[in-house]
Amino acid sequence: MSNHGGWIGVDFDGTLATYDGWHGPNHTGQPIPEMVERVKAFREDGIPVRIFTARVYNSGRSGAAAEVAHATAVIEQWCLEHIGEVLPVTCQKDFGMMRLYDDRCVQVETNTGKVLGRE
Ligand SMILES: [Mg+2]
Repeated sequence: MSNHGGWIGVDFDGTLATYDGWHGPNHTGQPIPEMVERVKAFREDGIPVRIFTARVYNSGRSGAAAEVAHATAVIEQWCLEHIGEVLPVTCQKDFGMMRLYDDRCVQVETNTGKVLGRE
């Protein structure tokens, strides 16, 4: 896949790391091997990958910026340990996002509204 400066988003909880309910920002699940290997393959092909997770959403509440900074650091450390490098962490789409891997996504066919796969 050519990337033309684009990037692939990969959800964290339930996609890259096992998820069994929220246990706070310091708890991270075990790596899901099939997804970790997929991310490593993208990286070996030179494709940018960003961890795409609501963990780093800034609600605007008092103290939220510090919580986001902490949550980011926790995921960066997880990436270093299990993927071998720190990947960018975001909860924002931009026009460079080519593809998103997420356990809650439902894929819709472009311009038709048809659901691909299961709803
Ligand atoms: Mg998820």
